[in-house]
Amino acid sequence: KHGIAQTDPELWNAIRLEDQRQEAHIELIASENYASPAVMAAQGSQLTNKYAEGYPGKRYYGGCEFVDVAEQLAIDRIKQLFGAECANVQPHSGAQANEAVFLAFLKPGDTIMGMSLAEGGHLTHGMALNMSGKWFNVVSYGLDESEAIDYDAMERKAHEHKPKLIIAGASAYSLRIDWARFAKVAKDVGALLMVDMAHYSGLIAGGVYPNPVPHADIVTSTTHKSLRGPRGGFILMPQQHEKPINSAIFPGLQGGPLMHVIAAKAVAFREALQPSFRDYAKQVVANANVLAQTLTERGLRIVSGRTESHLMLVDLRAKKITGKEAEKVLGEAHITCNKNAIPNDPEKPMVTSGIRLGTPAMTTRGFREDEVAQVGHLIADVLDNPQDAGKLAQIREQVGQLTARFPVYGG
Ligand code: PLP
Repeated sequence: KHGIAQTDPELWNAIRLEDQRQEAHIELIASENYASPAVMAAQGSQLTNKYAEGYPGKRYYGGCEFVDVAEQLAIDRIKQLFGAECANVQPHSGAQANEAVFLAFLKPGDTIMGMSLAEGGHLTHGMALNMSGKWFNVVSYGLDESEAIDYDAMERKAHEHKPKLIIAGASAYSLRIDWARFAKVAKDVGALLMVDMAHYSGLIAGGVYPNPVPHADIVTSTTHKSLRGPRGGFILMPQQHEKPINSAIFPGLQGGPLMHVIAAKAVAFREALQPSFRDYAKQVVANANVLAQTLTERGLRIVSGRTESHLMLVDLRAKKITGKEAEKVLGEAHITCNKNAIPNDPEKPMVTSGIRLGTPAMTTRGFREDEVAQVGHLIADVLDNPQDAGKLAQIREQVGQLTARFPVYGG
């Protein structure tokens, strides 16, 4: 395969083992998915060889006529998918898409407002060690008593601090976000509204989560989470913001675009435009509901009370196990997830009292309600028996039977 086995057996071994891990384990990391073979083929294509600084039709290198086609396809498709006026598909990642917005519209010392990391936001929304936290004056909003976004407090803080930019969007928030409410607050205080829809973009493309494009000044996203593309980012905007955003990405922040990744984005966007992707998105949310219900029946608490998306935070305290330990023992049973702080977590960030679970990956491999209920019970079985090696081995065996029935890449 690809000749890697012959030219680099050491590396090939790592790739082979990772392939086997992805096939044999149940993937519950909410930000992960399995890209299609066509997406991976585009990313592994000759387009990796091409320098194409600039944008389609306006490049700083010769020989760009074919990569221009690839990038234009990606742009046209993503605009159609979300109903956006303009798009930039060059961000190498979600973090860089966000940084480009900062570079385009802010100066160091400006005030920004985002959701706090501890309550579900992303690093790039103002966390102290991130560029967004170091270069800007950060005001954070969070959750209310019911663990929903505290929109009233957010509004109050916006009026008090007059941020230049308000960021809506999250990495660990299971409910629908009221984009219109954010847009109104931003308008009232004269702020720009940036929606980072990275986690939800596949659901939005599939019509099962509200679309922020009609409400936000700028929308950023990753391509590799629920949207199921290659690793990367993109930015959507109305015409008036296209110039500053494009020049913030290049030459502001990046050099040559990754044309092979952009080609893979084009493939993924085409896939997301198919009717079958709507079915997929619907199933992702249905599966998340079944998982949340099953875990609740087994005595676990879902943060915010429920999920309206692909993900949930699980409060583990009833089972007397930390997030760190849960991640480890679930891993031993071949169930992959990540520890995650819950609101007002008494434990340290490297320990936590929660895990974050998401359904995009297992839905891609074909799991439906029955399988997901089974997964929920297997998770609860692990959490009820973290010290019982025999029981864990038995669960691992059941995981193996389940994953064998649903190969990801043909087994
Ligand atoms: N924005 C949100 C809301 C995210 O959850 C993430 C990734 O976890 C990012 C941005 C950053 O994406 P990347 O890891 O591609 O830089």
